[in-house]
Amino acid sequence: MRATDSEEPARGEKKKAAPLRVTILGATGSIGTNSLYLVAADPARYHVEALVAGSNAECLAKWAVCVGARHAVVADERTFPALKAALSGTGISCAGGADAVLEAAGRPVDRVIAAIVGTAGLAPVCAALEAGSTLALANKESLVSAGHFVMARAREKKVQILPIDSEHNALFQLLNGHPLSPGGKVILTASGGPFWKFSKAEMQKVTATQALCHPNWKMGRRITVDSATMMNKGFEVIEAFYLFSLGQTQIEVIVHPESRVHGFVQHADGSLLAQISLPDMRIPIAYCLHWPEQASLPEFRMDLSLLSDLHFEKPDPERFPALPLAFQALSYGSGAPCVLNAADEIAVEGFLDGKIGFCGIVPLVERCIEKAEKEGLLSEPTTLEQALQLDQEARRIANSLLNTTGASL
Ligand code: NAD
Ligand code: MG
Repeated sequence: MRATDSEEPARGEKKKAAPLRVTILGATGSIGTNSLYLVAADPARYHVEALVAGSNAECLAKWAVCVGARHAVVADERTFPALKAALSGTGISCAGGADAVLEAAGRPVDRVIAAIVGTAGLAPVCAALEAGSTLALANKESLVSAGHFVMARAREKKVQILPIDSEHNALFQLLNGHPLSPGGKVILTASGGPFWKFSKAEMQKVTATQALCHPNWKMGRRITVDSATMMNKGFEVIEAFYLFSLGQTQIEVIVHPESRVHGFVQHADGSLLAQISLPDMRIPIAYCLHWPEQASLPEFRMDLSLLSDLHFEKPDPERFPALPLAFQALSYGSGAPCVLNAADEIAVEGFLDGKIGFCGIVPLVERCIEKAEKEGLLSEPTTLEQALQLDQEARRIANSLLNTTGASL
């Protein structure tokens, strides 16, 4: 037998690594499709175990065929027949419904990219943790709703959580596995969204179309509106709090409209470390897919002249009250962040449906937290079931506030 015919690599050749087994939850969304572009660009490196989406069967089937996925799932059972028809004869198995989502999320793989939007992502994240799969986490809502529980379970199951959210990915790289030094702090950057320069009066009149137009990032609808109110940054403060075991006073936010610097770590001696890259989510996603090695993405090398005119400003709590509200929710040390997330999801839908104005979103969320506190609902969820129950209670209160006081907000 010639050396090249053998299973062994020839001298000087590297042994070929086994493909990375990947599952993508939220495969048809913004993070999901960015992940799929990376996978499709390097097919030999990946084995796609499962792709999961909400309801878009046609798009899901197209991607499943493109990357040679083993299994595809739609959460919405009504679109399962369309998925089944589209995958007929391809050899790709498929399923529909909430249980099928959990089954797919719970298949042990090397990476689960958790990119379902909203609380719908929480139970699948937990299923991936139970299976012991390394979690590339985009679904920040699961940490906002049930941060203590999710992080405790990850520790118990010895699961590594790799943050996809660009700011947290930056901090993960800067901290490099070490706890924040005593007296240090982390600083999350925020673009400020499309209304950073708007007066309060101008913000009263903004439309859904304007709020859905982010200056730097192309993202799903909810996170785009959350970026416009800066509630997204509030969620990210809570996400950082849990991910890196920080105190509230160790987290700061700075508005940086160019979105080149994604995060800073400041040490007690005054050293300031920054992570800088182009604002493209494929960079942090690739980082999570290649970790602990570094991805090679020559097309994203930055021209340093892009750093010649960067700006940093303190956030304005008057025009962007979502940020102080998120810090306040954290200081309750309880279920308030879970209510914050659920109420915001309802308020954003209410705004997009024309039931409340843009400036009504945060007051609705704030009233919802106050009402939940009066009803004695704000204790810390310590299980998945408790977090989901609190989420449901918060939605009930938020919907009732939307229907009773919506127009006045
Ligand atoms: P998106 O709206 O574009 O996509 C959401 C995905 O979730 C879709 O594939 C949708 O089909 C799926 N989905 C919705 N409901 C589902 C359900 N019940 N079961 C299964 N799948 C369901 O959202 P996105 O912008 O990709 O954001 C996804 C997550 O990533 C969010 O948590 C967001 O906060 C986070 N994130 C996004 C970005 C970004 O740049 N888009 C950046 C950082 C973090
Ligand atoms: Mg972010």
